[in-house]
Amino acid sequence: MKALYAGSFDPITRGHMDIIKQAALVFEELVIAIASNPRKASTEMFSLEKRQQLIVQSCMAFGLEKLTSPGKPSILTCPGKLVVDFARQIGADVLIRGLRAVSDFDIEFQMVQFNRKIGLGMNTVFFMPAERYFYLSSSAVREIFSMGGDVSEFVPACVDEAMQQTRSTWKPQ
Ligand code: ADP
Repeated sequence: MKALYAGSFDPITRGHMDIIKQAALVFEELVIAIASNPRKASTEMFSLEKRQQLIVQSCMAFGLEKLTSPGKPSILTCPGKLVVDFARQIGADVLIRGLRAVSDFDIEFQMVQFNRKIGLGMNTVFFMPAERYFYLSSSAVREIFSMGGDVSEFVPACVDEAMQQTRSTWKPQ
């Protein structure tokens, strides 16, 4: 079965990596898609291409080289497209989502129903991260970073490094 894990991944965190590792064990084929979210545009940190590059590097660092094979690209960008449409386009059978604290449940529940309806029955499979990642989100990482905090325990090392390089230039609007 082929699964699609889509998100903003701005930036990819260790929580996302936990979900990717679990999904890669279960599904024969896993595609990661970086989607632009207009609601998050004003707080964007990295371009879609930079996020893609950081996910490739993180997968290599986490022993997930099979997702980075150039002959069979598994880490893609899908700007301005409905995730279910993209899933159909690439022939995915299911969507992957991560479930953190209870607060994720409402919105995810709603999305499952919409995706089933507009995605002609497209189903969603959820994975839960390790407990230490329950409250981790990209937006929290960006916020801590913007206040000068250390985010190295929350993101892969290559992401921490890339964030440090934006230290003098990036400011959320
Ligand atoms: P965020 O909410 O961090 O901005 P994304 O839009 O990139 O995240 O999320 C993509 C998917 O990854 C969503 O299903 C989200 O619930 C999941 N996810 C995000 N952070 C974590 C985490 N710490 N643990 C598990 N799943 C997560």
